[in-house]
Amino acid sequence: MTDEILIAGGGIGGLATALACARAGRRVRVLERSEEFAEIGAGLQLAPNATRILDRLGVLGRVVEAGVLPERLVFNDALTGDRLTHLDLGERFRQRYGGPYVVVHRSDLLDILVAACREHGVPLDNDRHVTGVTSRPDGVTVSCADGTGYHGALVVAADGLRSGLRGLLSDDEPVCSGYVAYRGAVPIEEAGAHGALTDVVVWLGPGLHLVQYPLRGGRMYNQVAVFHSRRFAEGHADWGLPGELDEAFSVTCDRVRAAVPALWRDRRWPMSDREPIGDWVAGRTALLGDAAHPMLQYLAQGACQAIEDAAALADAVDRHLPAGYSGAGDVDKALRAYAAERIPRTARVQRTARVWGDIWHVDGLARDLRNALFSRRDAGDFSDTDWLYGPGPTASKETAHA
Ligand code: FAD
Repeated sequence: MTDEILIAGGGIGGLATALACARAGRRVRVLERSEEFAEIGAGLQLAPNATRILDRLGVLGRVVEAGVLPERLVFNDALTGDRLTHLDLGERFRQRYGGPYVVVHRSDLLDILVAACREHGVPLDNDRHVTGVTSRPDGVTVSCADGTGYHGALVVAADGLRSGLRGLLSDDEPVCSGYVAYRGAVPIEEAGAHGALTDVVVWLGPGLHLVQYPLRGGRMYNQVAVFHSRRFAEGHADWGLPGELDEAFSVTCDRVRAAVPALWRDRRWPMSDREPIGDWVAGRTALLGDAAHPMLQYLAQGACQAIEDAAALADAVDRHLPAGYSGAGDVDKALRAYAAERIPRTARVQRTARVWGDIWHVDGLARDLRNALFSRRDAGDFSDTDWLYGPGPTASKETAHA
């Protein structure tokens, strides 16, 4: 029986896991249903809890080179345009958390992970739509829609928000928030005056927000506009269309309204998450990334948590599963150690993301109170972000591999 680790899904989570396992000396293979490894052409924020791991995986230099190190994370009121507070992301922040805050084009990050996997000899198989997994005492078999099959020691289900393999553990469904996101990443020349940014800027308004940041060394400008759909609340099937986007943002200040035309209008992303679940391991299969803990994007942590999962899974395999061996007991120990470390942390991030979004979107008295509290905080106060960006249980390993 083979000791290969099979990964179903070649998104950021699956590829980071493949890289982490390969660097730890494991045989690993990625099965991706699409014809090629691809991400949407928009931006991604990576906080230090993820960049420390990318450093350990040997790719942080390439990610920073492809992206931007923003100076600050700024929060403004979307109606008045007033500055509420900001978080300094400079040297003190980097020292405190042992890694930078980076914004990067998703395609660039994916290309870097694909290249690093190839450099480590990881087979990356496209057109492999995983349809089933059978765990046996001596190994696991993965079946694909085209009739191909693979044998391995264990399977990592990194197949995203609508994971089919999650069905091995739960019959839950994604929970739609009624909010929808419009994105846009355009060359800086097309962005106009408001495109010259060195910060991540978040504009908060009642039932809406806008996030803006530079990409590719400042040559691109990225935006995400999110709003709660009235038509969703009224039960219409077609909700969150561009007309509603314009209507929602019509009440915002000049600088926010001026940014809306640079959004793509031909695609939108309804925002869903799921309730945390208490078990991620079924036989020789473990969930990872959005398949395990999809979250609303308000903390910008979905991919960061998938990258944390990748390191934790590789460490657990390293600790509990001797190389060249695929005994069921050791596989179970490794997968359960991984899940035990990751479930409480990711459940906290999932739950906090929902509440953080609620705080962004309040109106009336609650908005006044939020603005007063935000305005009072010190830009160099990191006490609210320590739990999220600070070193977790994987810290000793991060240092060991540095
Ligand atoms: P996915 O990216 O969904 O990858 C799953 C992969 O599996 C895909 O390639 C898919 O084709 C493949 N697949 C699916 N089914 C099968 C199958 N049966 N067989 C084989 N392959 C299969 N996160 C951050 O950290 N920072 C941010 O700034 C941020 N901003 C966001 C903004 C928005 C608007 C949204 C919607 C999300 C944001 N996120 C952010 C969240 C982040 O994008 C996701 O959490 C992350 O991409 C999840 O990665 P994944 O690899 O787990 O899943």
